[in-house]
Amino acid sequence: MTRRKVMVMTASRADYSRYRSILFAIRKIAGLELQLVVAGAHLLERFGNSVRDIEDDGFEIQEKIFQNLEGENLVTMTKSTGYTIVELASTIDRLKPDIALVMGDRFEALAFATAAALMNVQIAHVQGGEITGTIDESLRHAITKLSHFHFPSTTESADRITRMGEKPDNIYNVGCPAVDTLLSFDIGTRSEAFDSLIPFIKILKRPKIEEPFLLVLFHPVTTEYGSVQDQIKQILYSISESGIQTIMLWPNLDAGSDEISIGIRHYLAKNPIDNLFMFKHFSMQVFAKLMAHADCMIGNSSAGIREACYFGTPVLDIGSRQQGRERSANVLWSPVVKETILEGITKQLNHGRYEKEYLYGTGNAGNRIAEVLAKIEFDTAQKQIFY
Ligand code: UDP
Repeated sequence: MTRRKVMVMTASRADYSRYRSILFAIRKIAGLELQLVVAGAHLLERFGNSVRDIEDDGFEIQEKIFQNLEGENLVTMTKSTGYTIVELASTIDRLKPDIALVMGDRFEALAFATAAALMNVQIAHVQGGEITGTIDESLRHAITKLSHFHFPSTTESADRITRMGEKPDNIYNVGCPAVDTLLSFDIGTRSEAFDSLIPFIKILKRPKIEEPFLLVLFHPVTTEYGSVQDQIKQILYSISESGIQTIMLWPNLDAGSDEISIGIRHYLAKNPIDNLFMFKHFSMQVFAKLMAHADCMIGNSSAGIREACYFGTPVLDIGSRQQGRERSANVLWSPVVKETILEGITKQLNHGRYEKEYLYGTGNAGNRIAEVLAKIEFDTAQKQIFY
């Protein structure tokens, strides 16, 4: 029996957390063959070498691609997109996939979809139709228009894809596959969450289990390039003023992440924050534990909007990056203004945990996507607007 070859390119933890349950499901289906390509931040020590999480999960990697230019500015991000397309042309030619399974809205995903479309490979896109800020908003909808099959996470997103002229029969509303993984973890107790941090701590000082803690992730908004250094300083000021111990991650690889890192270093050199703990990356299981037990999650990570609601964790969403994304009652919004952020933190800490909400699905998206990939009948690679 010839197996249908599904090519996946994961370029960071941000897409791997969503691909993960689909990859396990593909592995279980006899009619599907997984072709896994790993690229981007996964392969860089500075971003936590998250390729180890993929290896720990036991997936065989067909190819590793180094395609990111040093610099994290608009020029290098654009050139990196180009290099990714160049590399993928050879990879696709060699692996000859039947389907390219593209995740989300990052520049690497646009490169993957572009290379696959130009090489007449059928494209299935996960998490299309959502609304956010930053360049992701444009990239996501562009990928939708390059794709033949769609796996949105919510009804609203599915409707939006239909209104974008995609064939309704090819749109499968399956929920968010990251939720499958989150719900499969044993979240454990607060003290277990603190224990899981120990392997990542290289200094003697540790967060105190008896005190509340903030979990902070703030990534650059590429369309606001030039102002992100000031933005991170506003946030650090609010954290410092709050006096609450904080677990914070360095930003993702995007234009502007260098600026954020410089902003953090400059701020802390002048105004050290005694109870701030900085990390590069946690495995998704450790991150989920922290998210589940944090007293407030703050910043602009998609995890705050899509995932924290599964634990009822209070979230302060800051700035424009997640603007327009469907959210639950646990999320409060603040502009990037230090006084308002501080007010928001206080409000959320006073409120405490929220009711859990299941906005992005109930945890079976990976299986549903793999089943559809195994059985769908292909039209020709030629697409047509449907209206
Ligand atoms: N995540 C993770 N380890 C971490 C931080 C995040 O596994 O140390 C997961 C998180 O649960 C989410 C995904 O990575 O599913 C994306 O989060 P991130 O804030 O990195 O990126 P975004 O989606 O906002 O671009």
